[in-house]
Amino acid sequence: MEGIPYGRPAIDDLDVAAVTEALRSGWLTSGPRVASFERAFAKSVGSSEAVAVANGTAALKTALDAAGVGPGDEVVLPSLTFVATANAVLEQGARPVFADVEPGTLVLDPASVEARSSPRTKAILAVDYAGHPCDYDALRKIARGRGAVLVGDACHALGATYRGRPVGSVADLTVFSFHPVKAITTGEGGMVTTDDAARAERMRRFRHHGLGPAADAARPWYRVMTQPGSNFRLTDFQCALGERQLGNLAAWTRRRREIAKRYRRAFAAQPAVRPLAEADDVAHAYHLFVVRVPAPVRDALVLSLRSAGIEAMVHYVPVHLHPYHRERLGTGPGDLPQTEAAFDEILSLPIYPHLSDAGVDRVVDAVARGLGGPR
Ligand SMILES: *Cc1c(COP(=O)(O)O)cnc(C)c1O
Repeated sequence: MEGIPYGRPAIDDLDVAAVTEALRSGWLTSGPRVASFERAFAKSVGSSEAVAVANGTAALKTALDAAGVGPGDEVVLPSLTFVATANAVLEQGARPVFADVEPGTLVLDPASVEARSSPRTKAILAVDYAGHPCDYDALRKIARGRGAVLVGDACHALGATYRGRPVGSVADLTVFSFHPVKAITTGEGGMVTTDDAARAERMRRFRHHGLGPAADAARPWYRVMTQPGSNFRLTDFQCALGERQLGNLAAWTRRRREIAKRYRRAFAAQPAVRPLAEADDVAHAYHLFVVRVPAPVRDALVLSLRSAGIEAMVHYVPVHLHPYHRERLGTGPGDLPQTEAAFDEILSLPIYPHLSDAGVDRVVDAVARGLGGPR
């Protein structure tokens, strides 16, 4: 029987045709399709600006620079995230300060963020874990109290809403990734959205070596560097793919929610399997479907699923427990009780738009068997 990965992109003939057309157009990198994808993306998340960059990690760095994060600053963020979230802070020369998560949803606990923030806090970097939006209103209040900027790492949450507003229009700056496992893909790619035109301009320069536009029609070649920057550009043919993919987002998000509902119904009869909670005031994007099982059986269950051809994953080894971060930041076990308790119990089950109901049922049966249930 064919294996079931935990996530899988969908590319159709029209996607291929759009990329081919872009390649034949003569524009390979920054061209009309970048601008067009940015406009479509901003419209889709309800922001006034969207800036396309090379990948989600570059998007994090670009957003942190636009938030003014630099050496000597602190950024409060969760540890239960991909290492890129914390590394972008380090690469900006700032210090990541980890806050704990709420046990039900595994998104940042505002009380812990408040406790770990300080006068040096320049930004709160909130991760919409698994596609569940953070409590942005509570986090914004803490950020405002510190004069800090609220940045969303919404790499899991394209398609989600918070209190009726699309993620991407809620924080001061919001970061997305288009890696193949994410909601839509450009192969590699990223985006930052904001309503702040000055920050958007800074980000457009940041992705192109900090160079400003030519100010003088008589010297169209005279472009000078006004700020730090690098090469974080996204290509025109990737944006052709991105705009095509974006057209499928609503249908794909609906299907992810249906799959989640099917898992929830099935696991209601399996008390050992506890799906994460979902707040009433959000619409989840279900990038991941994460369940908790008793810690002593988690590792064996993951192996048993894998031997049945089902690619269960654990998202993530908490950043504060990686050897590199422990050594560099002095973090370690005991720092974040809820994060560490969750890490022992979580696993991610397959979820992607083209996963069939039969596929979901196969996963559910394999979980029951892996836990020693009926054969
Ligand atoms: C995928 C991801 C990133 C990094 O995105 P890349 O495009 O792979 O650089 C950052 N944060 C989170 C939470 C992610 O899931």
